[in-house]
Amino acid sequence: MPRREWAFVALGSNIGDRARHLTVARAALAELPNTELVAASSIDETAPIGPPGQKPYLNQMVLLRTALPPRTLLTRCQAIERAAGRVRDQRWGPRTLDLDIVRFGEHRVTEPELSIPHPELPHRAFWQRELAELQPHVR
Ligand code: ATP
Ligand code: CA
Ligand code: CA
Repeated sequence: MPRREWAFVALGSNIGDRARHLTVARAALAELPNTELVAASSIDETAPIGPPGQKPYLNQMVLLRTALPPRTLLTRCQAIERAAGRVRDQRWGPRTLDLDIVRFGEHRVTEPELSIPHPELPHRAFWQRELAELQPHVR
């Protein structure tokens, strides 16, 4: 069994029953193999980024303890997004569910399909707040 790592995953939704999308996503993450959902942050409502005319987001962060490698976690997150009915069209466009890997232990990944830590972390105050809220659960 590979060593388990701490992973911070950001959840976002701005279409449909946003709170429901977050709830379903938390359950799906908790069901991943060799993965435990340790804690979830409080939920923030944030102004949309990207193209105009979008509704505000509900955002939340969860702390996972997982033996999945980072790329596998990304693939699993994308499957959960698809199951939530996400349609991928424009960048930063509206979506039922967005799952971003914000941090993964001490891993540094710089690949076209995966950057860890997430490059937007320094620019998103709500992620920093959620990270700080979850940090005491890392032990
Ligand atoms: P942002 O990443 O700025 O929040 P976004 O979430 O709207 O933008 P998406 O369209 O959901 O962007 O994803 C674009 C691509 O980002 C994905 O196909 C994925 O391969 C890549 N990606 C790179 N790093 C990460 C990461 N840490 N977590 C999730 N996806 C990532
Ligand atoms: Ca995102
Ligand atoms: Ca994303």
